[in-house]
Amino acid sequence: MIDDIEGKMRAIPGMDVLLEKEWAVSWQKQLGRETVKGVFNGELSRMRRALLQGEDISAETLDKTLEASLKALGRRRLRPVLNATGVVVHTNLGRSCLAQEALDSVLEVARGYSNLEYNLEEGTRGHRNAHVEKILCSLTGAEAALTVNNNAGAVLLCLSALARGTEVVVSRGELVEIGGSFRIPDIMEFSGAELVETGTTNRTHLKDYAQAVTERTSMLLKVHPSNFRMEGFTAAPARSDLAALARERGVIFMEDAGSGLLIEGQALGAAFGEETDVKTCLKEGVDLVTFSGDKMLGGPQIGVIAGRKKLVDRLRGHPVLRTLRVDKMTLAAFEATLRLYMKGDYDAIPTLAMLRRTQESMKAQGARLAGKLRKVFPSTEEIQVKISVVAAEDAVGGGSCPAVALPGWGVSLETRCREGSVPWGTGRLQRMLRAREVPILCGAREDALVIHVRTLRPQDEKEILQAFSELNREVRNARKNNS
Ligand SMILES: *Cc1c(COP(=O)(O)O)cnc(C)c1O
Repeated sequence: MIDDIEGKMRAIPGMDVLLEKEWAVSWQKQLGRETVKGVFNGELSRMRRALLQGEDISAETLDKTLEASLKALGRRRLRPVLNATGVVVHTNLGRSCLAQEALDSVLEVARGYSNLEYNLEEGTRGHRNAHVEKILCSLTGAEAALTVNNNAGAVLLCLSALARGTEVVVSRGELVEIGGSFRIPDIMEFSGAELVETGTTNRTHLKDYAQAVTERTSMLLKVHPSNFRMEGFTAAPARSDLAALARERGVIFMEDAGSGLLIEGQALGAAFGEETDVKTCLKEGVDLVTFSGDKMLGGPQIGVIAGRKKLVDRLRGHPVLRTLRVDKMTLAAFEATLRLYMKGDYDAIPTLAMLRRTQESMKAQGARLAGKLRKVFPSTEEIQVKISVVAAEDAVGGGSCPAVALPGWGVSLETRCREGSVPWGTGRLQRMLRAREVPILCGAREDALVIHVRTLRPQDEKEILQAFSELNREVRNARKNNS
């Protein structure tokens, strides 16, 4: 037994031999010799352990395992995917798609040097925030504005700089958790501010806030309940009443607006009428508002703090600001996106265009796509395919507007397999679509795959047709191999 294992160990080729194999040489050109050696070392010691435990590993398995590890490493990890889910601000899929103008601006700024922190008029050091502050102020009516890495960072910076060691009053109905471990009580604790809860889960009144304010209070904080909906016996005081209370007691009134709308909700459609835009928040008396750049705003990941100059100025020198500093590529994309808002060219911003799409245009696109799909993915002897245009439920996503119903259109693909053949169910099709070089992520309902058209970009249709004509070929091949 021992001799047997020793023999098998000796049969594993040495590093030099492995590195000279033809496939290994070609991977060394792509990944570098040291990387390939590192991968081989790791895999070989795993295999030796397996041998010691009595497993059998053929020379062929060894080669295949090694090559598979190289292939996995050689493949680009962060890749584009095709979003056919109808969820517009899909956090798992990178939230907003950037406008062409934003992409152009990123390329130009990233390729060479820029005046990122240089004042061209004075020939002296400048501030990176200066590039977007004026535009933000003009779009929101704020006196001053600051940008940081993301909205969670914006909230943290404000609390750390303005409320550390003091009390902050929040309604019990607004102690929210946003995905990815952003929780108001935790952020509060981390910032050194002391959370004072007021009211109840479903109802909080102005007098609750008034009673909670003490001489140690520095701030009233209002938080957008981005990702859940409260219905029934609920109440919250008007923003303007809270603002008046804050002024009377000499405390700051801050709002975490979450998504950050730069245009009136109405402009996105009747369903968004209840959503308050940033300008209105400030007009109704909020001193500081924070919001994300990559949710419904449709820009890159960034966090904005906008409001009273006196308060924003207190944030400027804070060490937390330095740790949350925004990269030049992000600033370039953000400025370009804001300029589209200035021009009023909302349809050039993909997120807004997707949210504003009409039923007619989505239905027509669904019908067109269905017609083309029927040609490339027809029923065969193995599988019966039913392709139809269906009304679909889309969503804003990104924890924005759970209350907003976003009716859309899609193409449903229902597959039924002939008895005794390889099963080609929805789950299998979905897995195959995900395994593509450009993965395609679809919605699903009982026994059907649904391609939501709202979130498709113009170039996506071609990729979808390509994918289904390849699937059709696979179905046919499977039949051949079966018979
Ligand atoms: C999304 C959201 C956040 C977190 O914003 P990021 O930009 O993802 O950091 C914070 N607060 C609210 C209310 C949100 O909706």
